[in-house]
Amino acid sequence: MSKAIFFNVPTQGHVNATLPVTTELVQRGDNVIYCLTENYRAKIEATGATFRAYDLIHDDYFEKSGLDGSNPLLTARTLTKTSQKILPGLIEMVRAEKPDYILHDSMCPWGGLVAKALKIPSVSSMSLLMFTPMLLIKSGALLPMMGKMLTNFPNLRQFSKISGEIKRTYGIDVPSFADFLNSTGTITINYTSSVFQPSIESFSKTIKFVGPSIAPRTDTSGFPFDQLGTKPLIYISLGTVINQNQDFYRQSIEAFRDSDYQVVMSVGQRTNIASLGEIPANFIVRNFVPQLDILQRAALFITHAGLNSVHEALYYNVPLVLVPQQVEQNYVAGRVEELGSGVKLPNNQVMAQRLREIAARVLSDPSFRQNATKVGESLRNAGGYKRAVDEIFAMKTANGIR
Ligand code: UDP
Repeated sequence: MSKAIFFNVPTQGHVNATLPVTTELVQRGDNVIYCLTENYRAKIEATGATFRAYDLIHDDYFEKSGLDGSNPLLTARTLTKTSQKILPGLIEMVRAEKPDYILHDSMCPWGGLVAKALKIPSVSSMSLLMFTPMLLIKSGALLPMMGKMLTNFPNLRQFSKISGEIKRTYGIDVPSFADFLNSTGTITINYTSSVFQPSIESFSKTIKFVGPSIAPRTDTSGFPFDQLGTKPLIYISLGTVINQNQDFYRQSIEAFRDSDYQVVMSVGQRTNIASLGEIPANFIVRNFVPQLDILQRAALFITHAGLNSVHEALYYNVPLVLVPQQVEQNYVAGRVEELGSGVKLPNNQVMAQRLREIAARVLSDPSFRQNATKVGESLRNAGGYKRAVDEIFAMKTANGIR
C-alpha cells in the first residue's frame, strides 16, 4: 500500500474525471489525501480518500479572480501567484505526510511544483486536449491567442517574474507559459483517446491516453425522468463555467418551442430560470442535470464543447452541435467536426432558425451518429479510470514504489 496526495483546482471539468480514478486507487489499496475546497468534500469522501481543504483557496477561487478560461494569460498569472503564496505551506505539509507520489491536475501548478521541489514522482491528470503550435495554427486558435497575448502583456510580464522567483527560491524549473496550463508529470493521464487527440504521434510516450473516466454518478438531483416521454431528446448545456448566456438560452427555447422534440436544458447555477420567460411544455429547464443519464437517452447534444461534455456525449454515441464559448472549446469543436461527429456553430450565428436547421441536419443525416459511434468506440476502448490506475501502478513500480 502506498500513499499519495492529490492536488486539484475547484472546477467540475477538472475534478469529475478524477473521482473514479481516486475510488479505484483506494480500492486497490492506496491511501489518498485529496486537497480541494469545501464544496467537493462529500464527493471526495465518497471515493474513500481523505479530504483536506486548502487554507488559502476557496470554492469561489476562479470566479473571484475573474477566470473563466477565456484569457489563458490571466489564468497563468493568477495560478503562478497562488502557487507562490501556498508553496511554503504545501511543502511543509507534504514533508510531514511523506507521500510516495503526488497526483495533480495539469492546470494545478502547485501540485507539480511541490513534487519537483521535493523530488517526488508525479502523475498529472489532464482534462484538456494536448496541442502543439502547428495544431493551434491548423485549428485557427493561434490568431485569437496571439491577439490576447498582445493585449495582455502585463500579465505575461508578471507570469515570467513570478516564475523566475519560484525557480530561484526552490531551484526548480517552472513550465513556460505554453506548458503551464497543460503541465505534465512523471506520467500524464489524458482522458481522451488516441483517435480523438489530433497528431497523436507528436507526443511523449509518458502521456497515456486512457479515454474518459466515466463511472455512474449517484446524484441524479431529483430529475423528473418520468416526464421525458418518447419524442427524440435534445439536450442543451453550456457546462459549468461560461454558462450565463441568456441570449443563447432564449434562442434555444425559440428554436424548439412546440416542436416534435423533447428538450432538456441545463442553464447553470447562476442563471435565474424565471428570467428566461415562459418555458414551453416540451422543455425541462434546470440549473444542473444528471448529464450522464440524460446523454444516454439523447438523440442530439447542443454543447459549448467543453472536453468532458464532448467526451461524455461521444462515449454514448450522441452526435453534437457545438457552440464554443472560448478558444480551447473552439479547438475541441473543430476536432469533432473534423471527425464528422457534429457541426460547429459560431456564437455570433446562434439564432433560433439556424439552430433549428442545424439540429435537423445532424439528426437526419445518419453519418453523424455513425461517426460519433466510431469515436465513441475509441473512447470506450481506451480503458478509462481502470487503465489510468494500471498506468499509475506501472509508474510506481518503475520508480520503486510498492
Ligand atoms: N455537468 C453535469 N450537469 C450539468 C452540467 C454539467 O453533470 O447540468 C458536468 C458534465 O457532465 C461535465 C462537467 O460538468 O462532466 C462539465 O465539464 P466540461 O469540460 O464539459 O465543461 P466546463 O464546465 O468545464 O466548461
